[in-house]
Amino acid sequence: MSGRLPVAIDPLRFAETGRRLEGRLLLGGFDRLAPLLSDTTGEIEVELEFGIDDMRVPFLSGHIQGHLRLTCQRCMEPMDYEVDSHFILGLVQSDYEADGLREDYEPLLVGDEPMVLADIIEDELILTLPIVPSHELSACPVTTHVTDSSTENTADEAVNPFAVLSELKKGKTDKPRS
Ligand SMILES: [Zn+2]
Repeated sequence: MSGRLPVAIDPLRFAETGRRLEGRLLLGGFDRLAPLLSDTTGEIEVELEFGIDDMRVPFLSGHIQGHLRLTCQRCMEPMDYEVDSHFILGLVQSDYEADGLREDYEPLLVGDEPMVLADIIEDELILTLPIVPSHELSACPVTTHVTDSSTENTADEAVNPFAVLSELKKGKTDKPRS
């Protein structure tokens, strides 16, 4: 099923012929993405479908899926990040065409020259990344070290009213007995 992805594509021609592509790209091959990764091993799964929609607009519909390792900007340790992203690119040949695109299309400016497929995928990958990658608060080593006591206090405070209530109830029930 998963064939090889071509290096260069002609998006408009692929749209006319309803071409479908499926394959994998190595994360290490993305020069702009690589500095954002703490580990560039692994690959990204790519499914692409080219076509022409009801409004006669050529499009590229894609799904990218993979496992990235980013650097948490709070503790600077590696963090796992799952990519599972769908996108639709409207293939346009001018800014005027881009302005006329449906809301849910991102414009992809295409010309007569073949395009490097990995560049398009890399753009989409970078778009899916968080602006400031960071662990969940509870999973970040820095946070757990620095605010361990304060989070425990918060938890205690949340529990305390009930503890106090139950103490009061005990006191009330105890008093008549004594
Ligand atoms: Zn962290």
